[in-house]
Amino acid sequence: MLSAEIIAIGSELLTPEKTDTNSLWLTEKLNEIGIEVKLKTIVGDDELRLEETIRDAVERSDVIITTGGLGPTEDDITRQISAKAIGRKLIFHEALVEDLRERFRRWGREMPEINKRQAYVIEGAEILPNPNGSAVGMLARIEAKVLVVLPGPPRELKPMFETGVLPELKKLAGEIFVKRKILRVSGMGESAVDEAIAPIYKSFEHVQTSILFNRTEIEIHLRAQSGSESEAENTLEELAGLIGKKLGEAVFTTNGELMEEVVGSLLAENGKTLSVAESCTGGLIGERLTDVSGSSKYFIQGVIAYANEAKIATLNVSPSIIETRGAVSAETAEAMAKGMRELAQTDYAISVTGIAGPSGGSEEKPIGTVFIGYADETRVKSVKILLPGDRYLIRWRASQAALDYLRRQILKNFQG
Ligand code: AMP
Ligand code: MG
Repeated sequence: MLSAEIIAIGSELLTPEKTDTNSLWLTEKLNEIGIEVKLKTIVGDDELRLEETIRDAVERSDVIITTGGLGPTEDDITRQISAKAIGRKLIFHEALVEDLRERFRRWGREMPEINKRQAYVIEGAEILPNPNGSAVGMLARIEAKVLVVLPGPPRELKPMFETGVLPELKKLAGEIFVKRKILRVSGMGESAVDEAIAPIYKSFEHVQTSILFNRTEIEIHLRAQSGSESEAENTLEELAGLIGKKLGEAVFTTNGELMEEVVGSLLAENGKTLSVAESCTGGLIGERLTDVSGSSKYFIQGVIAYANEAKIATLNVSPSIIETRGAVSAETAEAMAKGMRELAQTDYAISVTGIAGPSGGSEEKPIGTVFIGYADETRVKSVKILLPGDRYLIRWRASQAALDYLRRQILKNFQG
C-alpha cells in the first residue's frame, strides 16, 4: 500500500481563524483509492521550515501533496522552495504568461507584472491547468515517487486534483478497493471490547481495525482493502459476523446505524408503538427518536415530567412513592413508565429519572445515579445504573441506556 503525506502551507493556517480543510478532503480521496495518509503537516510561509519539510517528506513517503502558497505575492513561496527541496530548477513558461494575460484581459484587467511568477514550473514537472484561478499546479515524478503541488483555495484544488492527479495516482496505486464498516457496541467498556475481539481481528491481516470510544458507545471501525471489490466486502462481512457473534446483543449495529435508528427499526418491523417519560434527560430521548425520519409510525408521545408534581399529575405516580422512595428510585421509574404507557396507550413505554449533577448527589444516590423504567402489556420493570461524566454526558448516556434497555427488551420479546 502506498504511503502519502500532505503538507498544508500558509501562515494563516497556524492561526485560530483558519482551518486546513484541504487535507481532510485529500485524505478521503486518497483513502478511496487505497493510498494511506501517514502524516499531515501544516507549515507557515517560512522558507527553511518548508524546504526541510518537503525534503523529509520525499525521503519517507511515496506520494507527497502540498497545498497553498502558489499565489503571485512575495509570501507565497511553495513554487521555488519545492523546486529547491528536490534539487531542481524552475523553468519559465512563456505560454503560461500568455495564458494569464489573456485571462486578465477577459476579466477586463491588465495582468500585474508580479503574476509572471506564476509562470515558473519545476523542471520536468507536468503542468496541472487551473480553470478556476491563476496558479497552475505541478506534478513532479522523483523516481517512483510523486510530488504534487496544488493551490490553496479549495475550489481550485478540488477540480485540479480530480482531473489531473487522481487518475495518475490510481495507476500508481494499482487497482485497490477499500471498504469500511462501523459496528457499535452498547453497555461494554473499550478495554472489555478489545479484550474480547482482539484475537479475532488480529487474524484478519488485511483489515485495519480501530476501536473508538464515543460519548455513549464503543465504535469498532473496520477497513478492508483488496484487489477485488467483492473480496474486500466478503472479508468485512466475515469479520463483522465473528465480532457480532462474540459480543452478542451488545452489538446494536453492524452497519453504522445510530441507537435511535436501530430502536426505531425494531419498533417499525414489529408494528409496535412507544411513549417516553423523561425527567433528567429533559426531552433528549424524544428528540433523538424523532430525529429519525418515519418515526411518527411508532413514536406516539413524550412527557417531560421534571418536577415531582408533574410526575404525580401527568403520569399518575403516587405521591407516597415519591415521598418514601424518592423521585430518583426504581419505584418512581416504574410508576412513570406504567403511567406513561396508560396515558399514551402505547405498546411500550420507557422512563428515565436520575441525578445529572453537578448538585443534588448524596451518599446513597451519587451524581450519575439513573433509573430506567420499562412497561409493556404484561410487565413493568426497571434497572439502576451509575453513569460517569458531567451533566451533559450523564444526560446523553442516560438517553442511550434507556434506548438500549428498550432494545434489549424488544429483542427478548421477539426472539425469545
Ligand atoms: P494560497 O495558495 O496560499 O495563496 O492560499 C489561498 C487561499 O486558499 C488562502 O487564503 C486560504 O483561504 C485557502 N487555503 C489555503 N490553504 C488551505 C487549506 N489547507 N485548507 C483550506 N483552505 C486553504
Ligand atoms: Mg498563502
